[in-house]
Amino acid sequence: RAKALGKARYELFDSTMYAQATELMQLEMDLRHAIEHQEFIIHYQPIILLETYKVIGFEALVRWQHPQQGFVSPEKFIPIAEETGLIVPIGYWVMREACRQLRAWQEQFPTNPPLTISVNISTKQFSQPDLIEQIHQILQETGVEGRSLKLEITESAIMENTESATAMLLHLQQMNVQLHLDDFGTGYSSLSYLHRFPTNALKIDRSFVMNIGVNGENLEIVQAIITLAHSLNIDVVAEGVETVEQLAQLAVYKCKYAQGYFFSKPLNSKLASTLIASGLNFESN
Ligand code: C2E
Ligand code: MG
Ligand code: MG
Ligand code: MG
Repeated sequence: RAKALGKARYELFDSTMYAQATELMQLEMDLRHAIEHQEFIIHYQPIILLETYKVIGFEALVRWQHPQQGFVSPEKFIPIAEETGLIVPIGYWVMREACRQLRAWQEQFPTNPPLTISVNISTKQFSQPDLIEQIHQILQETGVEGRSLKLEITESAIMENTESATAMLLHLQQMNVQLHLDDFGTGYSSLSYLHRFPTNALKIDRSFVMNIGVNGENLEIVQAIITLAHSLNIDVVAEGVETVEQLAQLAVYKCKYAQGYFFSKPLNSKLASTLIASGLNFESN
């Protein structure tokens, strides 16, 4: 009996693993299919200048509309795309489409300075030798100026590519493309590279912002990151701001920019256009 049970358990375990592996393989196949069949869209989350409560730009966040499974979260498919290298074509698609959309908005709704777009660059993408060339081409093609494009790169993506990173980042700086360090505070603790690389802004990770009111440690981390940005004379963006209390605390520390559900979830391009057309102002809300 015990033996039978043991075998059954073993088989159960085995079939679960098998199911997981096939699900992953299926997702990978579907992901290849998705590129060809244009199942991706971009949502745009507004980024707000806290001094004026004005929207200064948007972060482009990719969305996958799977034909059978419906919406698949980027948290789920980006790691698969990263592992299989599919992130490279997906990433360039996102950048091209986001820049095309940005240019259309800039023309329709001129502001001073012009609206910006933030695009996430994965570790794999950051290691592509032709990254600079591709970005150059996309900017040319869409008519977007380098200063309107913000690349969101994690500390780990830079640290895993230190050899190529320096040259790459200097090139980007020459093109006036902005470098924003995403999920700041969750990666490497060594801060020495902040001096070495032309960083324009730190994005405080959502996990710290979320717990501002919950425990004092996170509050201190948030304060420390903002102070660090001020002393380096670079910008700082708080991500994942959901409550008025979090916002009030960020204001006390003079955090310059914020982004989060308190202001707006990521919007489809039509809703984002409506927001821009209505004056980009959150103060009246
Ligand atoms: P991220 O770059 O740190 O983006 C911020 C994430 O936080 C987004 O999740 C956004 O929807 C979510 N968020 C923003 N405000 C709030 C808030 O107030 N509360 C909560 N709970 N969440 C908030 P999303 O869109 O699911 O993207 C997850 C991650 O997937 C991104 O984290 C980014 O690392 C990656 N990702 C998304 N789009 C792309 C892309 O086009 N290329 C690459 N390489 N990665 C992407
Ligand atoms: Mg980001
Ligand atoms: Mg982030
Ligand atoms: Mg994050």
